[in-house]
Amino acid sequence: MTKLIDGKTIAARLTTEIAAEVEKLNKEQGCQPGLAVILVGEDPASQIYVRNKARQTEEVGMRSFEHRLSHRVSQQEVLDLISGLNDDDGVDGILVQLPLPDQISEHRVINAINPAKDVDGFHVVNRGHLATGMKGLVPCTPLGCLYLLKETLGDLNGKRALVLGRSNIVGRPMAELLLRENCTVTIAHSRTAELEAECRRAEILVVAVGRPQMVKREWVGEGAAVIDVGINRIEDDEGRQKLVGDVDFDGVSQVAGYITPVPGGVGPMTIALLLQNTLQAAIERRGLSRR
Ligand code: NDP
Repeated sequence: MTKLIDGKTIAARLTTEIAAEVEKLNKEQGCQPGLAVILVGEDPASQIYVRNKARQTEEVGMRSFEHRLSHRVSQQEVLDLISGLNDDDGVDGILVQLPLPDQISEHRVINAINPAKDVDGFHVVNRGHLATGMKGLVPCTPLGCLYLLKETLGDLNGKRALVLGRSNIVGRPMAELLLRENCTVTIAHSRTAELEAECRRAEILVVAVGRPQMVKREWVGEGAAVIDVGINRIEDDEGRQKLVGDVDFDGVSQVAGYITPVPGGVGPMTIALLLQNTLQAAIERRGLSRR
């Protein structure tokens, strides 16, 4: 029978551990980590994400700094803000909520962040560290997926893994993390031949395509562990909005060994790992020791 991978519960446990570590750090070393979030524009989904991040940052005992900018802000103004946050000793992590308006280059903005404060792990230096097997800050969503897989399967050594999607923020870093765990990794994308058969061979299937319920029951091998990264808003039969993943949950649950739900799977892990990255950044940047 398929086992549900309960990201909400696992994330809550990890968040409690982080809060305990923050309290200890504060008491013993006088350090209270701080996370600055920059939101440009009024995108409703981004506003919700930023609000949740700020609330959870404070709940674990860290300081939260929110910078809300108009959608008309210039690129230079954003770069100036980042420069100030890079120099601010009370700020350990800087996150720029994506997407950004057209007049601002995501690439320029992300790469202006001090890599030691780049808690999203998107800076080219941190991406390079991951790709070459060095220590650095790793993108939160794939890190959260890996955490779920290790909690569920334990040792991943030698497993056949397929990552569907090759974006710089999910697919590629996910594949690099699985390779680091000694999985045999395939990366599939929109040009992959015989995609369905490729997916079916995998013991671990991580799906990040942004296509509602694309992966069907026939695509999944018996007993595979399926991690659904997708977040898609669709209308149900009564015209109400609902969230679904990139995996057809009802069909795939009939064959998979383990599966994450949407919502309540990868989503909560992303925020928990953001807090973990902020803690790591605070400890490393200040030359402190852990536990
Ligand atoms: P991108 O759009 O950047 O990348 C999508 C990838 O999927 C691309 O590599 C693309 O291939 C591939 N793809 C698209 N259509 C197909 C297809 N029909 N067949 C095979 N491959 C296909 O998306 P992201 O990686 O940013 O996000 C993916 C999903 O994850 C989205 O639903 C997003 O909302 C969600 N997400 C969830 C997060 C969370 O916290 N839970 C965080 C981040 C993202 P190609 O490269 O060839 O174009």
